Amino acid sequence: MSKQNPFEIVQRQLTQCAKIMNLDPNVYEILLHPMRELHVSIPVRMDDGSVKVFQGFRVQYNDALGPAKGGIRFHPEETIDTVRALAGWMTFKCALADVPLGGGKGGIICNPKEMSQGELERLSRGYIDQVWQFIGPEKDIPAPDVYTNPQIMAWMMDEYSKLAGKNQFGVITGKPPRIGGSAGRGDATARGGMYIIREAAKVRGIKLENATVAIQGYGNAGFFAASLAKALFGCKVVAVSDSKGGIYNKEGLDPQAVYDHKQKSRSVVDFPGAENITNEELLELDVDILIPCALENVITEKNAANIKAKIVAELANGPTTPEADGILYEKDIHVLPDFLCNSGGVTVSYFEMVQNFYMYYWEEAEVQERLDKKLTSAYYAVLNAAKEYKINMRQAAYVVAVQRVADAMKLRGWV
Ligand code: GLU
Repeated sequence: MSKQNPFEIVQRQLTQCAKIMNLDPNVYEILLHPMRELHVSIPVRMDDGSVKVFQGFRVQYNDALGPAKGGIRFHPEETIDTVRALAGWMTFKCALADVPLGGGKGGIICNPKEMSQGELERLSRGYIDQVWQFIGPEKDIPAPDVYTNPQIMAWMMDEYSKLAGKNQFGVITGKPPRIGGSAGRGDATARGGMYIIREAAKVRGIKLENATVAIQGYGNAGFFAASLAKALFGCKVVAVSDSKGGIYNKEGLDPQAVYDHKQKSRSVVDFPGAENITNEELLELDVDILIPCALENVITEKNAANIKAKIVAELANGPTTPEADGILYEKDIHVLPDFLCNSGGVTVSYFEMVQNFYMYYWEEAEVQERLDKKLTSAYYAVLNAAKEYKINMRQAAYVVAVQRVADAMKLRGWV
């Protein structure tokens, strides 16, 4: 079976949600499509002197609740439909986290693993040169996502500031703290997920101390998820993976040692003392908590029946297909859907914007406390909707989020 189109998945999920909540057909019609999108070609001088042209996108899905917000991905298999889907999910993520922002997303088709730092810098600046009039602190605020990082955000913010003729720290979030980044943004996505896992474990009566955890993906979200699961709750992280494969040790892995190993050998694979496993095997391990932290469409109708975890905490965007959702629900697995579970990143991004605007910066503990409050209430809002409508957690997340966006559109007179 070929990979499902993520944007079609969003539209299907919305259609389901519209039926459940008897959504105003005008709201439904508007939400089915992105409001605006920009396609650009970015010429970049490569280190060998040649010029290569990269394709890039920025999609503003809906800005009823506030300026569009969402990351930029660098990926060789990026497509406009993936960016559309992710921009749609950002709309619902911001609504659910109750931050006054709409949804957007960007992407560039490129393979950053094969590019030098100089090439990456020129690509990042070139992207901003093409999209800068489309974005802005009051219009659309990008951030990091798959294969982009604080350094890339620094270059992008700098390029935008030069074009605008003044420092514009608030145009991009996820920056390094020295130049307007927020304390606590680095691990925010994973930390927010941990707060939600904590509440979910309470509700499901799961003891987190020594609970076993498997994590797919070892980038920003995956690494911090492993570290925090151990540090905050005393979980045993028994398996992790990256695009090259996974590792397993039933006694538990040391997240920092695995990170150091990956830094040296460019993969978690062959970590001393652990057994190599495949990404597919990792998903089906008999663990208490499974945390997908990589890409879309990894839990499908093919493997959903074999998932044994009690909680699936989606730190990745779109890891579970709608067919798989149905199977997991039947199995009574508590799925913490992506735009709830990974909303910690954008929540702290919002805090970052606020700090940029009033030029006063908070301590890390203050950021974490505010994050905890927001995500804990988002979790219970979704849980309550799931109970009220007798629907799965993803459908419930849609119902809560879509209602908030719909209210904003109504108040603004769009429908
Ligand atoms: N890329 C992250 C996400 O998908 C963060 C977005 C942001 O901080 O704006 O939620």
